[in-house]
Amino acid sequence: MIWFTEYQTENVGLTLKVRQLKNVHSKYQNIYLFENQDFGKVLVLDGAIQTTEKDEFMYHEMLVHPALVKHKNPEKVLVIGGGDGGSVREILKHPSIKQVDLCEIDEEVILISEKNLPNISGKLRDDKVKIYIEDGNEFLNERKNYYDVIIMDSSDPIGPAEVLFKSSFYDKVKEALKEDGIMVAQTESPFLQEKFFKNAVKEIKKSFKYFGVYTGFVPSYPAGMWSYTMASDNINILEDDEGYKKLKNIKTKYINEDIYKSLFKAVPQFIKDMIEEQ
Ligand code: SAM
Repeated sequence: MIWFTEYQTENVGLTLKVRQLKNVHSKYQNIYLFENQDFGKVLVLDGAIQTTEKDEFMYHEMLVHPALVKHKNPEKVLVIGGGDGGSVREILKHPSIKQVDLCEIDEEVILISEKNLPNISGKLRDDKVKIYIEDGNEFLNERKNYYDVIIMDSSDPIGPAEVLFKSSFYDKVKEALKEDGIMVAQTESPFLQEKFFKNAVKEIKKSFKYFGVYTGFVPSYPAGMWSYTMASDNINILEDDEGYKKLKNIKTKYINEDIYKSLFKAVPQFIKDMIEEQ
């Protein structure tokens, strides 16, 4: 057993007692797989925890389901990043889905997840899923007016994912969406990664007419508090809708009808203030 610390800021770390199962240096990043008694298996990219067996449902459900139930009839969905497969698993719970494209830059993340995290990655080879090993920014150059929902399940805005947090990239996302399309992005910790959060919201706001921010709890992520930003050019994201009715038929462990109904309203005031500032 060793102690692994994720340095969430220069002054704050999360330390787990772990057994190391794997360490691979891929073309893009350093990949670790650990096992911890409380969190189960833990996937770490360049020192940052991406997913753990214990709390991954909290992140994946909150990232995926709100946008999919807000959209009237999502059939074609794109995930950028998300090589662990958790988002794909959640998307396939929606009966309207016909096609899921996953664009992940690093094939090693997919291979390690498939071998070691079957409960998360288990749907990656479903017939409806097509995997592209490509940079999400390049991938979108070829896609116009095609997807109903695009889900940004990327790592932090450092290294290969930096480009995925810029308005020049969100403009491409907008073009790849159909007219009534919706995008949702994980937008970091509004408490410990204030700068990343504010910047992501600012850049999304530049590209889309409508947007809304919501938060959720993910214990293994910085400060345990996470943010998600949904955006569209034609759907007023903040307007109430009946998406909660569709959630009734989807098996979840975190999101429920009440969370969905208050998604954009029950946002802490200091976060609302930061959003206003952007
Ligand atoms: N849940 C996570 C989080 O917020 O920490 C994200 C998990 S997922 C494993 C992130 C994935 O994004 C990684 O596998 C990484 O390889 C991928 N990624 C980073 N930059 C990318 C890019 N430019 N295009 C496509 N995928 C990218």
